[in-house]
Amino acid sequence: MLKQLTLTKRERDCILAINEDSSIDFPIRLSQLSKKMKLKPPTVIEILKRLELKGLLKRESGMIKLTDLGMTFYNNLVNCHRILETIFVDSGIDLDKACKEVSSFDFMLDDESLSKLSSFVGRPKACPHGKPITYR
Ligand SMILES: [Zn+2]
Repeated sequence: MLKQLTLTKRERDCILAINEDSSIDFPIRLSQLSKKMKLKPPTVIEILKRLELKGLLKRESGMIKLTDLGMTFYNNLVNCHRILETIFVDSGIDLDKACKEVSSFDFMLDDESLSKLSSFVGRPKACPHGKPITYR
């Protein structure tokens, strides 16, 4: 991940929730996000404020959007999740379990570790779910 940024698990989940639903073409609203994260709106607002301070997100007239930095962070995060998931599943761990366990630390790795891990497993093009992994 981007080294200067330290995120909590909830902040990580929030970034994913904001961006992962490709059926939504327009920015997500607080009510949708709070439903998706199964957290009360005031709790979500606190998370959003912290993400805004970290420069990852912006709020405009009720809409919540990731900044360019937030998008970079999101892309690194999903790639990291998918590479770790590949390693777990290749080791014989059940996919659902792998996905859940990897989610608890996929946001803590730095870029260098991620790059080494991906080379170690032969730079896979997709995760065990079949979702694409991209390289710069
Ligand atoms: Zn997963």
